[in-house]
Amino acid sequence: MSEGQSDIALIGLAVMGQNFILNMNDHGFKVTAYNRTTEKVDRFMANEAAGTNVVGVHSIEEMVKSLKRPRRVMLLVKAGDVVDKFIDAIVPHLEKGDIIIDGGNSEYVDSNRRCKALEEKGILFIGTGVSGGEEGARYGPSLMPGGHPDAWPHVKDIFQACAAKADDEPCCDWVGKEGAGHYVKMVHNGIEYGDMQLCCEAYQLMKDALGMSCKEMSQVFSEWNKGELDSFLIEITRDILAFNDTDGEPLLEKILDKAGQKGTGKWTAISSLSLGMPVTLIGESVFARCLSALKSERTLASKHLQGPAERRYKGDKDEFVEHIRQALYASKIVSYAQGFMLMREASKEFGWELNYPAIALMWRGGCIIRSVFLGNIRDAFKKNPELTNLMLDDFFAAALHRCQESWRIVVSQAALLGIPTPAFSTALAFYDGYRSERLPANLIQAQRDYFGAHTYERLDDPGNYVHTNWTGRG
Ligand code: NAP
Repeated sequence: MSEGQSDIALIGLAVMGQNFILNMNDHGFKVTAYNRTTEKVDRFMANEAAGTNVVGVHSIEEMVKSLKRPRRVMLLVKAGDVVDKFIDAIVPHLEKGDIIIDGGNSEYVDSNRRCKALEEKGILFIGTGVSGGEEGARYGPSLMPGGHPDAWPHVKDIFQACAAKADDEPCCDWVGKEGAGHYVKMVHNGIEYGDMQLCCEAYQLMKDALGMSCKEMSQVFSEWNKGELDSFLIEITRDILAFNDTDGEPLLEKILDKAGQKGTGKWTAISSLSLGMPVTLIGESVFARCLSALKSERTLASKHLQGPAERRYKGDKDEFVEHIRQALYASKIVSYAQGFMLMREASKEFGWELNYPAIALMWRGGCIIRSVFLGNIRDAFKKNPELTNLMLDDFFAAALHRCQESWRIVVSQAALLGIPTPAFSTALAFYDGYRSERLPANLIQAQRDYFGAHTYERLDDPGNYVHTNWTGRG
């Protein structure tokens, strides 16, 4: 092993680490590979990395010696304590100005903490979101780096070379300080929950209200993918609906309807509650998965609780499919508007100075929520970086106005037919609430003042909080 020759070291030879090493190698970077279980290093060097410029090492000392200065060490290991343990083990071998990058699915609060603690030791930390799964890691992920800004010039070339490209631009740019990268990745995953739930509701409406077959629905998703809904999730839904089991029947209909989750959607919902942001569509999407998990209770309830007698839509089928498409598009606009509201609030709260057009570009390609739509979002934030809400951008406002009639038809028909559409419905309720100058919160204030003397502010005397004796009793 030649000392001081490698551009970067990567620790963690599971699927993500191996693939990202090969991706960096393809782009001309010399990478040192290390893993706790060193047999995996040997196996990787003898197989996937054979014939490449990758250097395999068996110890942290060897790994550090192999690196050019400033040293760059990237972790792609299991999130949590493992990251802290590796940081503790590496730091004594590093010098001031060296860089540690965590590319795992870490919680942003941990990245905030790690960034501050390492800064005190002169080490520059980056916490980066990596999206696109193993395929993305190998051929171009969406990368969302945040952390110590001084680290960015030293990793920019590697990251932007290896990231996915959309419209010839890398889906990777500096997100903001400390845990901003992992926060943005968390919101990305929350939005992914929302997009998936919207596809599910469209599927259930077509299946139950219109009695469509999987083949027919696949054709609909295929058509949708040619227009403004063009996206990875619409595309894979098309393929899933078209996929038949060995007996020639759709495999989808044989899958247990109990959704799993790893927690990033829940973290997004928790953060939105903590910051007081009404990110309702992601919240409903997490709860929809929770409800699906209550399979045995639902099976019991299905035999006891009645819905409407009629479950089929009586009108024109093609027209209703178009209404569903527009409802999905409008709901998706609301979901992304809510996601950006949340990031804006977090940026204010933590002083991150998030770069919104860059975030939209990072999600434009490489990741699970990649879509044409994100190009429109980037344009909106480029045109007006201070945009208060995506729904107020001319392009999106016009789309909401165009879709709202269909959206209202779908939500009301679903309610009449007893078909649950939590995401479509909450998006519409949010839209109507957001565009209401006056909401019934005056009654809440009166109630709070009635039972708790919490006081209220009068419209005709702003800034003055008063209490009323509502009962006239002493
Ligand atoms: P993983 O299964 O999450 O983690 C395996 C790696 O962590 C191995 O290198 C393993 O080393 C190491 N590790 C686990 N426990 C350890 C311990 N106690 N001490 C030291 N090392 C330990 O691998 P992955 O699926 O490739 O994911 C890597 C990171 O990327 C994770 O944070 C994951 O959440 C994130 N991520 C994954 C995906 C995906 O699609 N898989 C997508 C985006 C982000 P040993 O070989 O020695 O056990």
